[in-house]
Amino acid sequence: MTESTSTFVAYPQRVISGPGVSHAALANEVAAVGGGPVLVIVSDRELPLAQAPLDALRDAGIDVGEPFTDVRPHVPADAAEAARAVARERGVRVVVALGGGSTTGLAKAIALTDDVAIVAIPTTYAGSEATVVWGITENQNKVNGSDPRVLPASVLYDPELTLTLPAGLSVTSGLNAMAHCIDSLWGPNESMVSTAYATEGIRALGQGLAPVVADGSDLAARARLQDATYLAAAAFSAAGSGMHHTICHVLGGRYDLEHAALHMVVLPHVLAFNAAAAPAAASRVATSLAAAGYGDGSDAVGALLALYDALGAPRSLGDLGLAEADLDEAAGLALEKVPASNPRPVTVADLRALLARAQAGDAPTA
Ligand code: NAD
Repeated sequence: MTESTSTFVAYPQRVISGPGVSHAALANEVAAVGGGPVLVIVSDRELPLAQAPLDALRDAGIDVGEPFTDVRPHVPADAAEAARAVARERGVRVVVALGGGSTTGLAKAIALTDDVAIVAIPTTYAGSEATVVWGITENQNKVNGSDPRVLPASVLYDPELTLTLPAGLSVTSGLNAMAHCIDSLWGPNESMVSTAYATEGIRALGQGLAPVVADGSDLAARARLQDATYLAAAAFSAAGSGMHHTICHVLGGRYDLEHAALHMVVLPHVLAFNAAAAPAAASRVATSLAAAGYGDGSDAVGALLALYDALGAPRSLGDLGLAEADLDEAAGLALEKVPASNPRPVTVADLRALLARAQAGDAPTA
C-alpha cells in the first residue's frame, strides 16, 4: 500500500428525504426492512413529533405497542438493557428511532446485540443515523465502537420534524455536522468519496444555517441542513475521525460537556492548528464556505469564523463547564488519543495552548 492508496466502503442504506416522509413513507420503509411488530423509541420531549408517524404505522396495521421513552444522553447501559428486553419480549424485527443522536444511539445499542433493523427518523443534525459508530455508557465510562450491524437500514429525513429545533440548538447541532465534515478531510481512511461528501456537506451547512437562524420555519433551508447532515456523517463514517473527535471524546467523557456544543467550540481551534499541514483540506473548507458566501476561498479559518460570527455561535469551553484548573489534565488525556494520522505532530504543550484558548473563548491561532 502506498500513501496514496485509499479504501471507501459503501454500506447499503435507504435514504428518503422530503416534507412529510416521516409518516407518508414510514409504513413502506418498515415493510421493506423487516415488517412488524416494531418498537418505537422516542423521548417524552419528541413524543408530539411522533404522533403522525405512530398513526401511520397503526393505520397500516403494524403492531407498534407502547413507545419506549427512556432516552437519555450517551446511551446509559441500563436504558439499553431495558430497551433490549422490551424488543425481545415483543418479538420486534424493526426499531423505529425518532429523535436526536441520543435516540438513534439507543436503537443502535439494541441492534448491536439483537437481530433488528433500524428505521431512523432524525430530528437534529447529529448524523448518527448515517454512521456505523455506536456508544454505550456504563459507570460514567462511554465505550464506542464501529459495527455495520448498527447502521440504520432506512433513514427518513423529514424537514418538518426539525421546525421545532430552536435557533441555538440548530446552530450547535449544525456545527457538530460541520465538525464531521472537516475532521473527515484528514481522517485515517479519507478517500475521494468521503472528501466529495464532506466538501458538499460544508457548502450545504454554510448555505442552510444562517437562513434557519433568521427564520426557523424556512423548510427549504431545514432540508438543506438535513442533506448536509447525511453527507457529513457519511463522510465521517467512511473516513474515520481525526484529532478533533478524539479531543471532544476525551473532554466530553471526562468533564461531562454537552456533545454538540463541545464540537462547535473546539472545531475552529483544530482547523487553525492543522490547516497549514493539510493544505488540500484547508483549501476545500475555504472554497466550500466561499461558495456559501463566507470568505474569498483563500482562508479556511477566517471563513469558518465568519460563519460563526453570522450565527452568533458560542466560542468558550469555560461557558460549557470546563474549568481552567482542568486544562493540564485535559491536555494530557487528549494527547494519549490523538491519532497518528493527524496531519501535524502534536505535543502536550500544543494541546494545552489550544484548549486554553478554547476554554477562554479566545480566537484560534496556528
Ligand atoms: P440529543 O439527541 O441528546 O438531543 C439534544 C436535545 O434536543 C434533547 O433535549 C432533545 O430532546 C432535543 N431535540 C431533539 N430534536 C428536537 C426537535 N426537533 N425540536 C426540539 N428539540 C429537539 O443530542 P444530539 O446532539 O442530537 O446527539 C448527541 C448524541 O448523539 C451524543 O450522545 C453523541 O455521542 C451521539 N452521536 C453519535 C454519533 C454516531 O455516529 N454514533 C454521531 C453524532 C452524535
